[in-house]
Amino acid sequence: MGSLRITVLGSGTSVGVPTVGCRCPVCCSDDPRDNRLRPSILLRYAGRCVLIDTTPDFRLQALRAGLERLDAILFTHAHADHIMGLDDVRPFNFRQKASIPVYGSAETLAAIRRRFDYIFDTRECESQVPQLELHALDGSAFELFGRQFTPVPVFHGRATVYGFRFGRAAYLTDHSEIPEDSLEKLHGLDVLFLDALRRRPHPTHSTLERSLQYVERLRPARTFFTHICHDLPHEATQRELPPGVYLAYDGLEIVVEED
Ligand SMILES: [Zn+2]
Ligand SMILES: [Zn+2]
Ligand SMILES: [Zn+2]
Repeated sequence: MGSLRITVLGSGTSVGVPTVGCRCPVCCSDDPRDNRLRPSILLRYAGRCVLIDTTPDFRLQALRAGLERLDAILFTHAHADHIMGLDDVRPFNFRQKASIPVYGSAETLAAIRRRFDYIFDTRECESQVPQLELHALDGSAFELFGRQFTPVPVFHGRATVYGFRFGRAAYLTDHSEIPEDSLEKLHGLDVLFLDALRRRPHPTHSTLERSLQYVERLRPARTFFTHICHDLPHEATQRELPPGVYLAYDGLEIVVEED
């Protein structure tokens, strides 16, 4: 299959870190790894760029990553921190002179249609809106540019949202619990991303302790925690983690070799 390069575009929780108005040590830290934009990753393989989620920080994330093309977007779910940058994909429509394929559950795509009603308004429009091609996922695996993607349903509080497995890597952001059927889809991984918001329990997100239990069970070669809030200083928290487990940070690049 060739190699896959993953770039962490954002590793922060919904409000980002620093959090507006907060003067806590992490929000005031000068360690760049404590500066966390909203959660998203970029996959580069076979000369293609596939994005998971368009955060409110997408424009800045694309600039930082030097993104010059965008071949597809996968959505995990339609919470604001995962979709609100969607309008900023327009430069890729202009550059590529084509619409961008978008994948998500039927529920996620319906929410996107409501929140971005102007994009899907079929009346003639004077201004430029994103050109998208929506593909609803029914939970089955699908192929994108020669690579298989498998939706992995996870519980996010009362909602069920998607994580994705792609070859020997998987990205599971926003989960409070991973159901048994989904855990079965996560064996033999080189790279696993998991939600680890903070230490204190939260109704819709996993904690450091809970996600470490998943690591114990699934034993991926490398695990990266993401969707992190200002409770966790990067360096001090990283020191406590077992071998092979890392806090993700913005700009982190991970290469997954596959044959
Ligand atoms: Zn989120
Ligand atoms: Zn803070
Ligand atoms: Zn969410």
